[in-house]
Amino acid sequence: MAELLIKDLYKTYTKNKKPVPAVKSLNLSCRDGEFIAFLGPSGCGKSTTLRMIAGLEDVTSGEIVIGGTVVNHLHPSKRNVGLAFENYALYPPLSIYENIAFNLRAKKTPEADIKRQVEKIAELLHINELLDMKPAALSGGQKQRVNIARAIVRRPGVLLLDEPLSHLDGKMRQSMRTELKRLHTEIKSTSIIVTHDQSEAMALADRIAIINEGVLQQYGTPLEVYNKPANEFVAGFIGEPPMNLFTVTAVTEPTGEPVFQIDGSDIRFKVPPAYRAKVRASQPYRFGIRPTDIRIVSGSDPATLTTKVAIFENLGEECRLHIRINEMLLSMVTSENVSFKAGDEIHLLFREERIHLFDPVTGNRL
Ligand code: ADP
Ligand code: MG
Repeated sequence: MAELLIKDLYKTYTKNKKPVPAVKSLNLSCRDGEFIAFLGPSGCGKSTTLRMIAGLEDVTSGEIVIGGTVVNHLHPSKRNVGLAFENYALYPPLSIYENIAFNLRAKKTPEADIKRQVEKIAELLHINELLDMKPAALSGGQKQRVNIARAIVRRPGVLLLDEPLSHLDGKMRQSMRTELKRLHTEIKSTSIIVTHDQSEAMALADRIAIINEGVLQQYGTPLEVYNKPANEFVAGFIGEPPMNLFTVTAVTEPTGEPVFQIDGSDIRFKVPPAYRAKVRASQPYRFGIRPTDIRIVSGSDPATLTTKVAIFENLGEECRLHIRINEMLLSMVTSENVSFKAGDEIHLLFREERIHLFDPVTGNRL
């Protein structure tokens, strides 16, 4: 078990003699035993960061501290880390038992200890039955389990998982996700999982580091990043279906009331009280509302948005409804048993306290 600190970390690759910045000024701290997710789109620098922590990649500048020791110049085997990568490189000629025992053997662990540790881990990951088999005989899900078993058998202080569930399909992925959570509560290693799947990060992590183009966007608990996204990127990345985001302009009604008008349309709605002091007349804003934070109401009052249904989908456990605003669709989700068809008039109400506003230039939350 160990605390992990990342201080002002940079990584610049060189491609065709040109510098390619992959990680820019990353600062993070992971408490002992915490489960952290690195979340972001493909190519944002997640694996690079993980590989620098593991010692498989040199850092360009900055410091990595594990359990109070700067590890920048330590060999991977001396860093007290366990690694499971996306492409589980199991040794084909070796049995599953030997695959898991491999690193222990390399450290000249006594045979009796190896047996005890492999069996313990096998039990934890429900792979006892597979120990005598060869990798080729295993399903993707079983290989994924063995891959993780191999990473944790040495009880690393820091467990690093790079998209460990990426080769699994829907149901299997869900159940391995639950297993990973259980596993973490049992082994208590400080753990980092790299994923591009926001629901995986939300379900597993104590805190999520959201990264875009090598830059940390926000670091917080799943609820913090969901309820108070620091910027428009995080707002659009977290949540499924994604947050509705569009440009509005603040306008003052003849009555003196401040309203937002959706650009390119005549749709207007009240500026929520919480934002009144911040909003300037005639200024544009990026406005965000989650599909689950829009309600269908019966009558029209000044706060509602009266419009027409463009698409209606009944998915069984929930209904999704879309209205068209210029080229964009505004989506909403409801678990109520409603039924509409395209063209029906509908009255919508945004949950005021759930409205997000972002600066149109910086993208930062207002
Ligand atoms: P992620 O894991 O978030 O998908 P990576 O960390 O693998 O992203 O990559 C981050 C950026 O660094 C990408 O632009 C990628 O092309 C670049 N990159 C990664 N590895 C290398 C390498 N060995 N040489 C040059 N560029 C690399
Ligand atoms: Mg990657």
